[in-house]
Amino acid sequence: MTTPLVEMDGDEMTRILWQMIKDELILPYVDLKTEYYDLGLAHRNETDDQVTVDSANATLKYGVAVKCATITPNAARVKEYGLKEMWKSPNGTIRAMLDGTVFRAPILVKGIEPGVRSWEKPITLARHAYGDVYKNTEIKVAGPGRAELVFTAEDGTETRELIHEFKGPGILQGIHNTEKSIQSFARACFNYAVDTRQDLWFATKDTISKKYDHTFKDIFQDIYETEYREKFEDLGIEYFYTLIDDAVARVMKAKGGFIWACKNYDGDVMSDMVSSAFGSLAMMTSVLVSPSGVYEYEAAHGTVQRHYYKHLKGEETSTNSVATIFAWTGALKKRGELDAIPALGEFADRLEKATIATIESGRMTKDLALITSLQDVKVLNSQDFIREIRRTFENM
Ligand code: NAP
Ligand code: MG
Repeated sequence: MTTPLVEMDGDEMTRILWQMIKDELILPYVDLKTEYYDLGLAHRNETDDQVTVDSANATLKYGVAVKCATITPNAARVKEYGLKEMWKSPNGTIRAMLDGTVFRAPILVKGIEPGVRSWEKPITLARHAYGDVYKNTEIKVAGPGRAELVFTAEDGTETRELIHEFKGPGILQGIHNTEKSIQSFARACFNYAVDTRQDLWFATKDTISKKYDHTFKDIFQDIYETEYREKFEDLGIEYFYTLIDDAVARVMKAKGGFIWACKNYDGDVMSDMVSSAFGSLAMMTSVLVSPSGVYEYEAAHGTVQRHYYKHLKGEETSTNSVATIFAWTGALKKRGELDAIPALGEFADRLEKATIATIESGRMTKDLALITSLQDVKVLNSQDFIREIRRTFENM
């Protein structure tokens, strides 16, 4: 390796898996260079969360990061870890600094069949991660009155729109987005489609929301025509826009193998549907892509707290490390591509194949054993599953 990967260590069971993956599957084969940041909650607390900011800055500097799952503190965690304050979600901080879009794709293996019969290839969900209902302002209306939307320009000019004349109690909600954020979202989606050579679908409710959703549609179309149409045509891939209802209906009959870009709320809901229909959150990769071409790879699941407490009590766990392994292979492949080191990409491809082959041969963790259609399955503990992948890798 020439440029280091930004390595963001994390919490609980995934922190345990992190070390096992490095020891068994990466360090024996790769002359690994990383710049290490410990995002474990104790260290975030010691550094007043500065380590999270530093790790995001390092990602902007080097271009590729691999991240372990981390605890997002709540009241219980403040007590459990004796925190100075309820630190913000590291993912939220990193996402805001990288101005990114999150892409999630399932890892398909034979024996774990998708709930939707027509799906043969992965469906990647791209979720806009800024604004709309996630940054809303709400009012509970107590009784009759007039609700208006008011925008005051810097020069004091007001624009007003009547929302509703309330005859009785009701509810109100104000949401927004920015052109800059929507443009970043669009470019991240187009770049990802070009990178992975897949078609891109984008859907909103523009027939009803003639200014709000329509602006999303227009921004995507403008950027496509001026910056991407040629590249898409050269690669033989397609961009199209359709209504969200139509997209939902089409997805159910599609074969997969495309990217489905969604506004923030649609992406939140649809990614849970797509991932559970494909089988398991532990078989879902996640990558944050910024419009400037910066990549952060992680697993889609959390720190698997329940398994960690069992581990602490000395009990055996059977935690699935596949998504975390694929976070490493994704990051190594991207580093190899950017630095023109084909051996890194070849290693990552081989490790992915070994991981899938291990499961397809019937050796897997408990979460997969519960849903597989394979017969004669051997359920392995967390450590043995990783060792079994190493054995498969050595024999390939
Ligand atoms: P979780 O870690 O995703 O686990 C929820 C449940 O899903 C587990 O208890 C387990 O079910 C199953 N599961 C998830 N990943 C698995 C794996 N790799 N192998 C086997 N089973 C797996 O979610 P959580 O327990 O709600 O959250 C724990 C912590 O993670 C929280 O502090 C949260 O803030 C954090 N979190 C972080 C991220 C991130 O950093 N990207 C994302 C989400 C949550 P069983 O117990 O039934 O076996
Ligand atoms: Mg959700």
